[in-house]
Amino acid sequence: MATIFSRIIAGEIPSYKVAEDDNFFAFLDINPLIKGHTLVVPKKEVDYLFDIDDALLEKMMVFSKRTAKAIEKVVKCQRVGLTVIGLEVPHAHIHLIPIITGMQDMNFANPKLKLTKEEFEEIALAINKAWR
Ligand code: AMP
Repeated sequence: MATIFSRIIAGEIPSYKVAEDDNFFAFLDINPLIKGHTLVVPKKEVDYLFDIDDALLEKMMVFSKRTAKAIEKVVKCQRVGLTVIGLEVPHAHIHLIPIITGMQDMNFANPKLKLTKEEFEEIALAINKAWR
């Protein structure tokens, strides 16, 4: 059975898309720690990030870099942090999280933000414009 992220990539489940190329798809995390919290996912379904083959993993980091640079242009932050957890969804993904106040912004034990559909749409569109 396809993972929820494969279904998002296929357009079967809605998402706030930020960027896409032949190999990767980036969209806003639905439970963001910070506005602009984005997930980068390979289109190829692999559960564990460190099982991704070297060539694709290199490309994933470059795609994440481009996406982080776009996030920086939209969200006023010190820098964009990158983390990998992967315990919830068995489809490898990188979290890109704008760091505004300090490292505590990357703490997954923090309460998640509740954003409106309009807020998600506005952020996704702005990051997408900055990405292109
Ligand atoms: P983890 O696998 O622990 O890295 O966490 C998975 C992340 O995916 C969590 O931050 C969720 O909020 C996020 N997530 C799960 N389902 C969706 C979805 N349908 N759209 C956007 N983000 C999601």
